[in-house]
Amino acid sequence: MSFVTHLECALCGKHYPARTIQTVCEDDQRPLWVRYDLEAVGRAVSRDDLLAREPTLWRYRELLPVERDEDVVTLGEGMSPLLPAHRLGETLGLRNLWVKDESQLPTGSFKARGLAVAVSMMKQFGIFRAAIPTAGNAGGALAAYGARAGMQVYVVMPEDTPEINLKESLAAGARVYRANGMIDQCGKVVREGKCPAEWFDVSTLKEPYRIEGKKTMGLELAEQLGWTLPDVILYPTGGGTGLIGMWKAFAELAALGWLASDHRPRMIVCQSSGCAPMARAFEAGERFAQRFEGAATIASGLRVPAAVGDFMILDAVRESGGAALTADEDRLQEWMLHTTASEGIAFCPEAAACVGVLEGMVERGEVAADERVVLFNTGALQKYPHTVPDTSRSIDLGREVDYAAMLRGE
Ligand SMILES: *Cc1c(COP(=O)(O)O)cnc(C)c1O
Repeated sequence: MSFVTHLECALCGKHYPARTIQTVCEDDQRPLWVRYDLEAVGRAVSRDDLLAREPTLWRYRELLPVERDEDVVTLGEGMSPLLPAHRLGETLGLRNLWVKDESQLPTGSFKARGLAVAVSMMKQFGIFRAAIPTAGNAGGALAAYGARAGMQVYVVMPEDTPEINLKESLAAGARVYRANGMIDQCGKVVREGKCPAEWFDVSTLKEPYRIEGKKTMGLELAEQLGWTLPDVILYPTGGGTGLIGMWKAFAELAALGWLASDHRPRMIVCQSSGCAPMARAFEAGERFAQRFEGAATIASGLRVPAAVGDFMILDAVRESGGAALTADEDRLQEWMLHTTASEGIAFCPEAAACVGVLEGMVERGEVAADERVVLFNTGALQKYPHTVPDTSRSIDLGREVDYAAMLRGE
């Protein structure tokens, strides 16, 4: 059983009953929050009870919406490592820098979290046909979890989405469609297909449950830091569910009395200069963002020109005393390769934007040397082979191998 009490519109606050298939608010079409009886959760489970549970996001079962264990669709997602990044920290002049490494999740990105929970909820409601617009990783994750649940999955992606996302979705049995436009235009195809094609729309924030999966990043972070929170969190932001979810998680943990202090991190939205609608709106002091025309970035997960949860992202950033900032698109590859080579963590180009933003913050004195800083590596570099220049050399087996040259790095 779950502790969900109701769903609540994030904009107008209107309530909807739990345990009904609900997508967005009927009045303003805005996203819905899932609300829990946190007092009852607190009586049912303690922080210490968690220690004995399996190291997946399902250890936070009482803070998740799924009613019956048999509906849980899982590939073992969650409890990603929180890795100290000493060498990168030294380069940046920071003494307490960590990377929360989501690259190790099923399908190689944190999208697994949201879709594990969303697919489980679809199963609970008896929905077995799902469609998603994707910049890449969300489609791959829905295809995998959908396959595991025995669903028919439809994936609609911009035609220049990385090939690996197309292939992973196809391999998992999804029907994949390439559209000559951006992700929000793919979203329109999915939305307008709801009636004729009778599929469930699993777009970002068009159903309330993906965000519940993503909030587990915040729950894990708190647990891994001994129920304290860092000073600064840098998060590569496209649709923003990860950041919104974590901010929700911190509020729930505080309400449960599980946090050692009231201290909350400054939430930093990290975008590329090639697609920065949130950073632009933040700077302009706006709550709703304009569509970012001509979006272009190698960080495909950040290529979201218009986010339905814009006001939720910007509210969280402002409440936290954080900021929405950009990293220079032309330097993403450099940051990605430098971080991967100095830490051994397979940094995706999206997370490279966080490194760039952090570098700028340190230079401007916005982060102090001893503050506790967490960067999110939301996906695996291995999913972006086209972004790594091939500087390998060949060996001609018909000739003598020149080891001296190899020692010189030639
Ligand atoms: C989707 C994605 C993002 C953006 O995540 P949101 O929570 O939707 O803002 C960042 N990085 C990667 C690797 C992604 O796949």
